[in-house]
Amino acid sequence: MDTYMSLSAYGDGANRALTEAGQAINELDSRLSRTRPDSDIGRLNLYGSAEIDPDTAALLERSADYVRKTGGRFEITVGPLVELWGITTDEPRVPEQEEIDACLARVGSEHLRVQTGEPTAAALDPGCAVDLGAVAKGYASDKVAEIFTARGVESGAVSLGGNVYVRGSRPDGTPWSVAVQDPAGEGYACTLALTDAFAVTSGGYQRFFTAGDGTVYSHILDPDTGYPAQSDLLSATVIADCGAMADAYSTALYVMGSGEAADFWRGQSDFDMVLITADGRLLYTPALADKISPQEKSPYVYEAITP
Ligand code: AMP
Ligand code: MG
Repeated sequence: MDTYMSLSAYGDGANRALTEAGQAINELDSRLSRTRPDSDIGRLNLYGSAEIDPDTAALLERSADYVRKTGGRFEITVGPLVELWGITTDEPRVPEQEEIDACLARVGSEHLRVQTGEPTAAALDPGCAVDLGAVAKGYASDKVAEIFTARGVESGAVSLGGNVYVRGSRPDGTPWSVAVQDPAGEGYACTLALTDAFAVTSGGYQRFFTAGDGTVYSHILDPDTGYPAQSDLLSATVIADCGAMADAYSTALYVMGSGEAADFWRGQSDFDMVLITADGRLLYTPALADKISPQEKSPYVYEAITP
């Protein structure tokens, strides 16, 4: 998945669980990667329609649900825009407005159809492309959690490129301490004491490119404008009991910005979040009050979000 991963598990079934988790992650990558021409998503994008694994179809349908819930801030058909900007490639560039407009016409989940019957398949309108980069790692962490359950792992911690899953508590019985990185500096901005939870962070600081004029362009794109997201946020972290949802929502919240993100949370309330703003505030949902610990020398002002 083009990222650093670490997995740890404790207990009798731990070794077997870790082996199976590694296999499951590789298998998912071989199906979901946009840049592998032989993956389910690669073939769908290349040929416009493809027979796909039922599990891939299920993820596409769930993702479409997150697209609806987030009002399209999270949008899996951003493929043409991702390709156009090439932010995470060796050759990123700032496109012409006409190019962006041409891509925008091909972005939107109405361009994707999923068939869950026999055979399982998906189809795209011409020129459209799916990119699951904003949800695949979270989904992979859900699979790891399932394997931990099946193998009786009671304690473990997993990080798939910043998508964290903590199982149970630490071997000594205390909660896991999950650090939220300081998006503007070294080290972390706060830690969260968590048990049995998924915690996923999205931020422009993770992957970006700096143009000749000094403008910084993030890898998270605003599906409405076709430009890299420019909200008041430096990062958005979602804490939830589902990895795929946490991943999709953290990307969406980053696009939304703090005001819209707070409204979205008020409407959903099946997750918690930590938002770090460019003007130095760290906003958190009230249920995190007894779990969050500020970094001692943190430059951020901590504020609970009002329900
Ligand atoms: P994440 O790190 O989970 O926020 O995902 C970012 C990645 O998802 C990018 O590198 C793109 O491949 C893709 N992406 C960019 N913008 C969006 C968006 N608004 N919705 C869904 N996927 C996106
Ligand atoms: Mg994401």
